[in-house]
Amino acid sequence: MPDILRDLESIVGAAHVLRGAADTEPFVADWRGRYRGAALCVVRPAGTAEVAAIVRLCAERRVPLVPQGGNTGVCGAAIPDASGGAVVLSLARMNRIRGLDAHDDAITVDAGCTLAQVQRAAGDAGRLFPMSLGSEGTCQIGGNIATNAGGTAVLRYGTMRELVLGLEVVLPNGEVLDGLRPLRKDNTGYALKHLFIGAEGTLGVITGAVLKLFPNPKSSATALLALPALDNALEVFARLRADLGDRVTTAEILSEGQLAGVLAHVPDTVRPLETRTPWYLLVEVTDTLPDTDLGANLGAALEDALAGALEAGTVADATVARSGAQAAALWKLRHSVSEANRKSGVVIGHDTAVPISRIPEFVARATAAVEALRPDARVVAVGHIGDGNVHLVVILPESLRASGEPLEPIAHAVNGVVHDLAVSLGGTISAEHGIGQSIRAQLAAFKGPVEMELMRGIKRLFDPHGIMNPGKVL
Ligand code: FAD
Repeated sequence: MPDILRDLESIVGAAHVLRGAADTEPFVADWRGRYRGAALCVVRPAGTAEVAAIVRLCAERRVPLVPQGGNTGVCGAAIPDASGGAVVLSLARMNRIRGLDAHDDAITVDAGCTLAQVQRAAGDAGRLFPMSLGSEGTCQIGGNIATNAGGTAVLRYGTMRELVLGLEVVLPNGEVLDGLRPLRKDNTGYALKHLFIGAEGTLGVITGAVLKLFPNPKSSATALLALPALDNALEVFARLRADLGDRVTTAEILSEGQLAGVLAHVPDTVRPLETRTPWYLLVEVTDTLPDTDLGANLGAALEDALAGALEAGTVADATVARSGAQAAALWKLRHSVSEANRKSGVVIGHDTAVPISRIPEFVARATAAVEALRPDARVVAVGHIGDGNVHLVVILPESLRASGEPLEPIAHAVNGVVHDLAVSLGGTISAEHGIGQSIRAQLAAFKGPVEMELMRGIKRLFDPHGIMNPGKVL
């Protein structure tokens, strides 16, 4: 047995150094079947001290390390390369809620806690941890922080960057940066925690975090609106914000093609409206006052806000959920898009954001450009309209896999068309998923030489031997 494996076993115990192909399989491939690598082993530490010892050992031996959370990422960032020389460091055993303080309005957690676990712990204490993703049962807080995840509640509560108060990080030399502070204000020089948020594991291993909590909403209303055109989504969104203010927690668009894909491929989903239109908007409003104290039902307030839009024809049809079960059925449509798209064919996803005002133009032009490039493609769209973040999903026929035509050049060409357009409209090539290995080649063109050199300099400073998640982001 190579020395490094013996030494890793002495840190975490033999049972937590996985080596056989069957044991390592879930850690070396992504859930979409797009990325596959190989690992020297998968190591599963139980605490920060063990992570520090593992990182120190790997730094001494110059062995690359790939931190991995729930492996739900979409850009290959948690998958090792094919050389088989990297150690995958899984945080799954580090899943302790370390503490919750109601006055600080903060929860301190191990990085390996799943997002759902943190939501539950907050809920049990009568508080809210607002991040919400379709992958929340599996993705981990460390992964959410490392990707600066977004999701469906960003509109009201912000991305992960806005939800992190403090971090504990094992640096690439094995030192522990202890910044587990619940402070809302701290002007003591460089805000180092922000470097690790969105760094995709390239600057260190996040082992713990202090996260912001919020008051738990006591009333909510959910509606699905049928829209004749995408411009209408902007108009309705503005109207809802004007009438209901920050109560508008979610505003998610789905194209008819996206909704049809969900209905075709995901069991127990039903078309919520008879009226078919090119676009739909899923809206949720919440309030910390119960309906009884609001003097009105929040659903009725939402209906009032929509009445003018229905009259004006901006909204062709609408359904407001009358029960928790109906609201859950509407949400299931939104949360099932990844599953549906995976079953629909070969997927090339995008994570672009543009200024909100440019969304309709972006979607129309990008769809036309992709269809011109690949006449065999079906283009659907889903996204967070209030954040300007639209996921344009290009679905190629399943027969492409059997044809032997390699996907990477096709993805590269399609990505190029979509990304160039987003950037030309003042947007970004990644709003919430990150860079990973999937769009690494396009980062330099987007960032430009000044930003790239600063980023490389930061990487060199933190990780001079380049052991931390090599081949990702930069
Ligand atoms: P992984 O996939 O394991 O890793 C992602 C990156 O983080 C890698 O670079 C890895 O090295 C790094 N990393 C993981 N843990 C650590 C750590 N402890 N320290 C340092 N680096 C670490 N994303 C969104 O933003 N919004 C969505 O709405 C959304 N919806 C999704 C829906 C579905 C059904 C699925 C499957 C995915 C969705 N995602 C979404 C993508 C994904 O869930 C997020 O990117 C998530 O934050 C990844 O967390 P993870 O624990 O799975 O990380």
